[in-house]
Amino acid sequence: MQESRVVLITGGSKGIGRVIAEYFRDAGYRVAATHRTGSVPEGVLGVVCDVTDQAQVDAAFTTVEAELGPVEVLIANAGVTKDTLVARMSDDDWNSVIDTNLTGTFRVVRRAARPMTRGRFGRIILVSSVVGLLGSPGQMNYAASKAALIGMARSLTRELGSRNITCNVVAPGFIDTDMTAVLPAATIDGYKARIPAGRLGDSADVAAAALFLAGDGAGYISGAVVPVDGGLGMGH
Ligand code: NDP
Repeated sequence: MQESRVVLITGGSKGIGRVIAEYFRDAGYRVAATHRTGSVPEGVLGVVCDVTDQAQVDAAFTTVEAELGPVEVLIANAGVTKDTLVARMSDDDWNSVIDTNLTGTFRVVRRAARPMTRGRFGRIILVSSVVGLLGSPGQMNYAASKAALIGMARSLTRELGSRNITCNVVAPGFIDTDMTAVLPAATIDGYKARIPAGRLGDSADVAAAALFLAGDGAGYISGAVVPVDGGLGMGH
């Protein structure tokens, strides 16, 4: 039953979102993924969408609904960083990260909620970060955007829970993608030393958690924060 459901992943062109798309495709879901640049994996419906633009979000959902059917599983994964110390953080550094990571998630969730409510089924998965819970110097904007997703998920759980809609947060730790490739080697080594698993995470580690939360077996789990961080946050 669950395998043929329709899933939409934001930010499916690379990194974690791309691997999530591949995981769901391989599990038999009908998968769509957004991209601004690049392309999405084979067998996945690609829809151009910048999550900072509500009109593009609406158009992407309309396309997915026409091609695959109503979105039953939403994975809000698109995210950016603009790291700098607080005293140097410009309005643009702050606003652009909040607009993509937090308001962008709001835009897709808002568009997804009504059809899910009507269909009496929904799985919403918000991709946060260990940094949203632990904090991180130079990432005040990013950490704030990611921490806010937890309040969002718990409010959605209370609002939509009786309609068979769950909303959970996945909080990855340090995952080896383009986002982290820009960090200095010393920073990466510092993280490694603090991760009980002794290694950086892989996008597949996050995809496996998302796949579980979307499945029928996770129907009674909602409002949870699921860390995928090798123990870095000790379960928070
Ligand atoms: P990448 O930089 O590799 O990928 C980011 C994705 O987000 C891309 O597909 C990009 O699309 C998309 N994206 C960015 N801005 C927008 C936008 N305005 N509208 C639509 N799509 C957008 O990052 P990761 O794969 O590492 O990160 C994925 C998510 O996981 C993010 O939310 C990130 O914060 C989170 N995360 C990552 C961790 C890590 O260690 N890597 C740790 C914890 C959380 P395009 O290429 O088209 O621009």
